[in-house]
Amino acid sequence: MAKQPMLKFVDIAREMPSKRDASVRRADFDEIYAEYADAKATEQAARCSQCGVPYCQSHCPLHNNIPDWLRLTAMGRLEEAYEVSQSTNTFPEICGRICPQDRLCEGNCVIEQSGHGTVTIGAVEKYITDTAWEKGWVKPITPAQERTESVGIIGAGPGGLAAADMLRRAGVQVTVYDRYDRAGGLLTYGIPGFKLEKDIVTRRNEQLEQGGVRFVLNCNVGEDLSFDEIRAQHDAVIIATGVYKSRDLGGPGAGAKGIVRAIDYLTASNRASNFGDHVPEFESGELNASGKKIVVIGGGDTAMDCVRTAIRQGATSVKCLYRRDRANMPGSQREVQNAEEEGVQFEWLTAPKGFKGEPVNAVIVEKMRLGAPDATGRQRPEVIEGSDYDEPADIVIKALGFEPEELPTLWGCPELEVTRWGTVKAEFTSGRTALPDVYAIGDIVRGASLVVWAIRDGRDCVEAILQDLTAKAAIAAE
Ligand SMILES: Cc1cc2nc3c(=O)[nH]c(=O)nc-3n(C[C@H](O)[C@H](O)[C@H](O)COP(=O)(O)OP(=O)(O)OC[C@H]3O[C@@H](n4cnc5c(N)ncnc54)[C@H](O)[C@@H]3O)c2cc1C
Ligand code: SF4
Repeated sequence: MAKQPMLKFVDIAREMPSKRDASVRRADFDEIYAEYADAKATEQAARCSQCGVPYCQSHCPLHNNIPDWLRLTAMGRLEEAYEVSQSTNTFPEICGRICPQDRLCEGNCVIEQSGHGTVTIGAVEKYITDTAWEKGWVKPITPAQERTESVGIIGAGPGGLAAADMLRRAGVQVTVYDRYDRAGGLLTYGIPGFKLEKDIVTRRNEQLEQGGVRFVLNCNVGEDLSFDEIRAQHDAVIIATGVYKSRDLGGPGAGAKGIVRAIDYLTASNRASNFGDHVPEFESGELNASGKKIVVIGGGDTAMDCVRTAIRQGATSVKCLYRRDRANMPGSQREVQNAEEEGVQFEWLTAPKGFKGEPVNAVIVEKMRLGAPDATGRQRPEVIEGSDYDEPADIVIKALGFEPEELPTLWGCPELEVTRWGTVKAEFTSGRTALPDVYAIGDIVRGASLVVWAIRDGRDCVEAILQDLTAKAAIAAE
């Protein structure tokens, strides 16, 4: 009988792929984790306890068959591991890199609860699909049969692209419209290269194009092409536009030059440093931290991406102001640790009261303490009166979160129903909206969320569209 390859968690310690030293990685935008060597991936996958009720799987938004692909990896059956992995996840190598695993699959790994350290699920998932790409197992889509129906997708982020992939697999004709010049949404222009190198995204975009997805880029729907025109051209339309309206700051001096939005700052950096684009605001220094004192306001993942980008651009100092403490911040603890190693200073329990100078030269900071819990149970930050101080700053980056743009107004379509937060009203399991043949997915429905949830929405929505198209075809044939 073959030797049991699994349950090695008692003898083998958890080991992440090696992380480049902070002094080295500060100088470039390359990813910070190396790839597992084959033997290490096999060894780490073999730590899985193959428990009867895999909590990792139920806490993965895609319900990936994690125990199965870990076992196949441990047995060296990598091509099969890849087949299982890609059957539930459109972009496994992307999720393996950027999912907050500590809150999802790995956060619910049973062997961690017995004190042995989680299986490194994300790193193995990344390893399997990176290997598949290397070995040529990832192929362009070739549908068994072409269908005549067409679907227009507005937004080429992970939600729209996951839907495009599934629709093409079913033989549907797909056109993806995006206002940017490259596909990928926040994978391309939001998330920095040190978390997700851009060729990982580009090769997926190319794979989709080779599989018959048509991209119409530099097309701002609502300006260059109307929503009604898109609806008229397709049998169904998916809205996958994400959320891009930045939350703003108040207080005296909040409009000063040098106070910039995180999305503008990160987009400029991604364009200039990863794609080598000519970006005037980067070259002029307006959106470039080189030689400057940088203050980032916010405690989420966007703030973490900004502080770490500023370090790589050569800022003289990078400080992050957050109004709660470390234990209560929304950003991933793993990213805070990475940022600290790279030289970022966190000023916990602080908030901006105003700004000095035109252009800005300082943030007036007030200190906070945590008071009684609010309705959500989170302790409310309270100002400590008389605690103000000035924090010198040449650029202040606002990373306070995102809200949806007003699509019904921008698109001249008041019938498109939105919630009181401005997100599009859609059924969570199908993406169906109140408008016939119009579906919505990803951040524009959920509010700012995660890549893995956008992928899940895209996949679910395609199931509903295929059902609806088939039902229509049956009626037409009667
Ligand atoms: C800085 C940053 C870092 C993040 N880091 C992580 C992370 O580490 N892990 C993680 O899981 N999630 C992360 N997220 C969240 C994640 O990126 C989003 O949840 C995800 O990208 C949402 O996917 P989406 O397809 O709904 O929208 P998006 O990725 O936002 O894509 C929407 C697309 O629609 C296009 N669009 C919008 N309006 C129009 C229009 N009118 N006409 C044409 N095109 C239009 C946009 O140009 C864009 O390409 C991060 C977000 C940010 C901002
Ligand atoms: S998709 Fe994300 S949550 Fe699911 S297994 Fe992969 S890393 Fe974990």
